[in-house]
Amino acid sequence: MNFKEKIRVVMDFPEPGIRFKDITTLLKDGEAFQAAINQLAGSFKDQQIDLVVGPEARGFAVGAPVAYALGAGFIPVRKPGKLPAETIRHQYSLEYGHDALEVHKDAILPGQRVLIVDDLLATGGTTLATIALIEELGGEVAGITFMIELSYLQGRERLAGYNVVSLVSY
Ligand code: AMP
Repeated sequence: MNFKEKIRVVMDFPEPGIRFKDITTLLKDGEAFQAAINQLAGSFKDQQIDLVVGPEARGFAVGAPVAYALGAGFIPVRKPGKLPAETIRHQYSLEYGHDALEVHKDAILPGQRVLIVDDLLATGGTTLATIALIEELGGEVAGITFMIELSYLQGRERLAGYNVVSLVSY
Protein backbone atom coordinates (compact mmCIF):
# COMPACT_ATOMS: atom_id res chain seq x y z
CA MET A 1 0.00 0.00 0.00
CA ASN A 2 1.29 3.45 -0.94
CA PHE A 3 0.31 5.39 2.19
CA LYS A 4 1.80 8.67 0.95
CA GLU A 5 -0.80 8.98 -1.78
CA LYS A 6 -3.53 8.68 0.90
CA ILE A 7 -2.13 11.56 2.96
CA ARG A 8 -3.26 15.05 1.90
CA VAL A 9 -0.62 17.78 2.08
CA VAL A 10 -2.13 21.21 2.80
CA MET A 11 0.13 24.17 2.09
CA ASP A 12 0.41 27.05 4.56
CA PHE A 13 -1.67 25.51 7.34
CA PRO A 14 -1.94 26.48 10.19
CA GLU A 15 0.51 29.23 9.21
CA PRO A 16 2.52 30.31 6.14
CA GLY A 17 5.40 27.99 5.27
CA ILE A 18 3.97 24.86 6.96
CA ARG A 19 3.16 21.87 4.73
CA PHE A 20 0.52 20.22 6.90
CA LYS A 21 0.26 16.43 6.60
CA ASP A 22 -3.47 15.71 6.86
CA ILE A 23 -4.17 12.09 7.83
CA THR A 24 -7.97 12.46 7.71
CA THR A 25 -7.85 11.40 4.05
CA LEU A 26 -6.07 8.17 5.07
CA LEU A 27 -8.38 7.53 8.06
CA LYS A 28 -11.54 7.79 5.93
CA ASP A 29 -10.28 5.09 3.57
CA GLY A 30 -11.16 1.85 5.37
CA GLU A 31 -8.70 -0.31 3.49
CA ALA A 32 -5.81 2.13 3.96
CA PHE A 33 -6.66 2.73 7.63
CA GLN A 34 -6.71 -1.02 8.36
CA ALA A 35 -3.47 -1.63 6.44
CA ALA A 36 -1.73 1.25 8.25
CA ILE A 37 -2.82 0.04 11.70
CA ASN A 38 -1.84 -3.55 10.90
CA GLN A 39 1.60 -2.44 9.74
CA LEU A 40 2.19 -0.21 12.79
CA ALA A 41 1.07 -2.96 15.18
CA GLY A 42 2.89 -5.67 13.22
CA SER A 43 6.31 -4.16 13.95
CA PHE A 44 5.71 -4.66 17.68
CA LYS A 45 3.69 -7.87 17.83
CA ASP A 46 6.56 -9.85 19.41
CA GLN A 47 7.56 -7.10 21.82
CA GLN A 48 5.23 -8.03 24.73
CA ILE A 49 3.62 -4.58 24.74
CA ASP A 50 1.40 -4.10 27.81
CA LEU A 51 0.19 -0.58 27.03
CA VAL A 52 -0.07 1.84 24.13
CA VAL A 53 0.21 5.52 25.07
CA GLY A 54 -1.28 8.07 22.64
CA PRO A 55 -1.02 11.87 22.98
CA GLU A 56 -4.15 13.82 22.14
CA ALA A 57 -5.81 14.11 19.74
CA ARG A 58 -4.52 12.28 16.67
CA GLY A 59 -2.58 9.90 18.93
CA PHE A 60 -6.01 8.63 20.04
CA ALA A 61 -7.21 7.93 16.50
CA VAL A 62 -4.04 6.00 15.67
CA GLY A 63 -3.04 4.65 19.08
CA ALA A 64 -6.31 3.08 20.19
CA PRO A 65 -6.64 0.76 17.16
CA VAL A 66 -2.95 -0.20 17.44
CA ALA A 67 -3.56 -1.13 21.11
CA TYR A 68 -6.59 -3.19 20.09
CA ALA A 69 -4.59 -4.99 17.39
CA LEU A 70 -1.86 -5.83 19.92
CA GLY A 71 -4.28 -6.85 22.67
CA ALA A 72 -2.73 -4.09 24.80
CA GLY A 73 -4.38 -1.42 26.95
CA PHE A 74 -4.67 2.19 25.81
CA ILE A 75 -3.57 5.19 27.90
CA PRO A 76 -4.47 8.75 26.86
CA VAL A 77 -1.96 11.57 27.36
CA ARG A 78 -3.71 14.93 27.42
CA LYS A 79 -3.35 18.69 27.69
CA PRO A 80 -3.67 19.99 31.28
CA GLY A 81 -7.05 19.91 32.98
CA LYS A 82 -8.69 17.24 30.80
CA LEU A 83 -8.05 14.06 32.80
CA PRO A 84 -10.40 13.63 35.79
CA ALA A 85 -8.34 11.67 38.35
CA GLU A 86 -4.94 12.38 39.91
CA THR A 87 -2.32 13.22 37.25
CA ILE A 88 1.36 13.95 36.78
CA ARG A 89 2.43 16.74 34.43
CA HIS A 90 5.44 17.42 32.23
CA GLN A 91 6.10 20.89 30.87
CA TYR A 92 8.09 21.38 27.67
CA SER A 93 9.29 24.26 25.52
CA LEU A 94 7.82 25.21 22.18
CA GLU A 95 9.28 27.62 19.64
CA TYR A 96 7.36 30.34 21.48
CA GLY A 97 6.41 29.72 25.12
CA HIS A 98 5.66 26.29 26.57
CA ASP A 99 3.07 23.58 26.76
CA ALA A 100 2.36 20.68 29.08
CA LEU A 101 1.01 17.14 28.97
CA GLU A 102 -0.58 15.03 31.67
CA VAL A 103 -1.26 11.37 32.35
CA HIS A 104 -3.16 9.65 35.14
CA LYS A 105 -0.82 8.74 38.01
CA ASP A 106 -2.18 5.16 38.15
CA ALA A 107 -2.14 4.63 34.35
CA ILE A 108 1.20 2.77 34.19
CA LEU A 109 2.74 0.36 36.68
CA PRO A 110 6.52 0.10 37.17
CA GLY A 111 8.05 -2.30 34.64
CA GLN A 112 5.14 -2.27 32.19
CA ARG A 113 6.23 -2.25 28.55
CA VAL A 114 4.85 0.75 26.72
CA LEU A 115 4.53 1.60 23.03
CA ILE A 116 4.06 5.30 22.18
CA VAL A 117 1.89 5.88 19.10
CA ASP A 118 1.27 9.22 17.39
CA ASP A 119 0.31 10.46 13.95
CA LEU A 120 3.46 12.40 13.18
CA LEU A 121 7.02 12.98 14.37
CA ALA A 122 8.12 16.58 13.80
CA THR A 123 10.68 18.01 16.28
CA GLY A 124 10.07 15.22 18.78
CA GLY A 125 9.04 17.62 21.58
CA THR A 126 5.67 15.97 22.16
CA THR A 127 7.26 12.52 22.22
CA LEU A 128 10.02 13.56 24.64
CA ALA A 129 7.39 14.92 27.03
CA THR A 130 5.41 11.69 26.69
CA ILE A 131 8.56 9.62 27.41
CA ALA A 132 9.21 11.72 30.54
CA LEU A 133 5.69 10.96 31.85
CA ILE A 134 5.99 7.22 31.17
CA GLU A 135 9.45 6.93 32.73
CA GLU A 136 8.42 8.98 35.78
CA LEU A 137 5.77 6.33 36.45
CA GLY A 138 8.36 3.56 36.03
CA GLY A 139 7.15 2.37 32.61
CA GLU A 140 9.60 1.05 30.06
CA VAL A 141 9.39 2.66 26.59
CA ALA A 142 9.68 -0.44 24.40
CA GLY A 143 9.03 1.41 21.16
CA ILE A 144 7.75 4.56 19.49
CA THR A 145 5.79 4.52 16.24
CA PHE A 146 4.35 7.14 13.90
CA MET A 147 2.35 7.15 10.69
CA ILE A 148 4.54 10.00 9.44
CA GLU A 149 8.08 11.17 10.12
CA LEU A 150 9.31 14.59 8.98
CA SER A 151 12.92 13.48 8.71
CA TYR A 152 14.20 16.98 7.82
CA LEU A 153 13.33 18.12 11.38
CA GLN A 154 15.60 15.44 12.89
CA GLY A 155 13.17 14.36 15.60
CA ARG A 156 14.65 10.86 15.37
CA GLU A 157 18.03 12.19 16.58
CA ARG A 158 16.34 13.60 19.70
CA LEU A 159 14.87 10.14 20.33
CA ALA A 160 18.25 8.38 20.08
CA GLY A 161 18.38 5.18 22.12
CA TYR A 162 14.70 4.37 21.52
CA ASN A 163 13.28 2.01 18.89
CA VAL A 164 11.52 4.40 16.45
CA VAL A 165 9.45 3.03 13.54
CA SER A 166 7.51 5.16 11.05
CA LEU A 167 5.27 4.22 8.14
CA VAL A 168 6.20 7.03 5.75
CA SER A 169 8.91 9.66 5.80
CA TYR A 170 9.13 13.12 4.18
P1 AMP B 1 6.55 17.63 17.52
O1 AMP B 1 6.29 17.73 18.99
O2 AMP B 1 7.31 18.82 17.01
O3 AMP B 1 7.19 16.32 17.12
O4 AMP B 1 5.16 17.74 16.78
C1 AMP B 1 4.22 16.84 17.10
C2 AMP B 1 2.83 17.15 16.65
O5 AMP B 1 2.65 18.34 15.90
C3 AMP B 1 2.45 16.01 15.75
O6 AMP B 1 1.88 14.98 16.52
C4 AMP B 1 1.46 16.63 14.80
O7 AMP B 1 0.16 16.44 15.30
C5 AMP B 1 1.80 18.11 14.78
N1 AMP B 1 2.51 18.53 13.56
C6 AMP B 1 3.73 19.11 13.51
N2 AMP B 1 4.08 19.40 12.25
C7 AMP B 1 3.09 18.97 11.45
C8 AMP B 1 2.87 18.93 10.02
N3 AMP B 1 3.74 19.43 9.15
N4 AMP B 1 1.73 18.36 9.57
C9 AMP B 1 0.83 17.85 10.44
N5 AMP B 1 0.96 17.86 11.78
C10 AMP B 1 2.08 18.40 12.30
